Amino acid sequence: MAVERTLSIIKPDATERNLTGLIIARLEAAGLRVVAQKRVLWKKKDARKFYDVHKDQPFFKDLINFMTSGPIVIQVLEGEDAIAKNRAVMGATNPVDAAPGTIRKDFAVNLQRNSVHGSDSPANAKREIALCFKKSEIVG
Ligand code: UDP
Ligand code: MG
Repeated sequence: MAVERTLSIIKPDATERNLTGLIIARLEAAGLRVVAQKRVLWKKKDARKFYDVHKDQPFFKDLINFMTSGPIVIQVLEGEDAIAKNRAVMGATNPVDAAPGTIRKDFAVNLQRNSVHGSDSPANAKREIALCFKKSEIVG
């Protein structure tokens, strides 16, 4: 295992329900450290660029509408094995399939409104972090 960085987003369904503190507490309790963080309202172009990998999926348009429907909290998490660890704490994409005690099991509304995003590979973590933060905004 190595110390890694990953990109985490608290999605509009969670900011709307005032759940940011509870979600960050779960991430910190798992040993992940917030080394960059901001609350923003994405424009459609920001969301489209971020989720470009899904542009041909049938859910793409609805996903972009959802991700621009309210504020989100974007953060860089650092820790041992941070990419897999964050995904484990998040739980499966669909809350119906998520394990007990995971963020999505406990907080997600449905498959789309599933409260959190996490990078799924080192290459995507690097891309997503660079899209969302300047180097000087990651302050460790
Ligand atoms: N999503 C959706 N419908 C689907 C699959 C995904 O609305 O059938 C949304 C959901 O918000 C998900 C995001 O699109 O988190 C990105 O999908 P991905 O398969 O990358 O899941 P994740 O990596 O977030 O678990
Ligand atoms: Mg994904």
